[in-house]
Amino acid sequence: MLISEIFYSLQGEGMLTGLPSLFIRTSGCNLRCNWCDTDYASWEPTGEDMTIDEIVSHVDSKKCKHVVVTGGEPMIAKEIQQLCMSLKDKDCHITIETAGTISPENIDCDLASISPKMSNSTPDKRASESWLKRHERDRINLLIIQEWIDNYDYQLKFVIDSQNDVNEVLELLAQLKRDIAPYKVLLMPQGITKEEIDTKKLLVAEMCKEYGFRYCDRLHIELFGNKKGT
Ligand code: SF4
Repeated sequence: MLISEIFYSLQGEGMLTGLPSLFIRTSGCNLRCNWCDTDYASWEPTGEDMTIDEIVSHVDSKKCKHVVVTGGEPMIAKEIQQLCMSLKDKDCHITIETAGTISPENIDCDLASISPKMSNSTPDKRASESWLKRHERDRINLLIIQEWIDNYDYQLKFVIDSQNDVNEVLELLAQLKRDIAPYKVLLMPQGITKEEIDTKKLLVAEMCKEYGFRYCDRLHIELFGNKKGT
């Protein structure tokens, strides 16, 4: 399994923000978001081939039961089902960070952190024509998002870049035709530096106040900056 990095840090985003967690980042992604902050696991995937046992051994060495499986898109990793099964055997709480484009197929997961990609993710000229088409075709899959939210505890995390983005969030929530509590909907300012986030955080805060959604910070950037392994 191609692993980009494994590290111990604090969960920086979402309902479990602040919780010490072991992060397992698979390498490879089926999308090419313009503002991706982990291009070493998506646009230019690199990493080390590791066995499931090698990966899971980090749980013992860190003595940490909260594990975040992330990427890239972890759900496209070939042995993802076995990895999560092995983590469950170790009694771990598993958060999977996914864009919600790949079926969960009964994967072991305690919190599905689903981040559907809106139009602000469309890649610029860095992406080839074929990647651009693929990104636009695949970035939203209603049936698959429904499958996740029907079968798992979940949060829906949206990256907000400008005022209009909230209309897309509302449209998607309506299209999902599910009774989604606003507190499970997280709005996160787009930005990979503290300065960039600062320019958008009040806009996002006002959106949350208006619709009852949850503000989603990026604590790891606040604490450590945009660095690998944090
Ligand atoms: S889905 Fe996530 S990892 Fe993949 S390109 Fe988009 S932001 Fe990056």
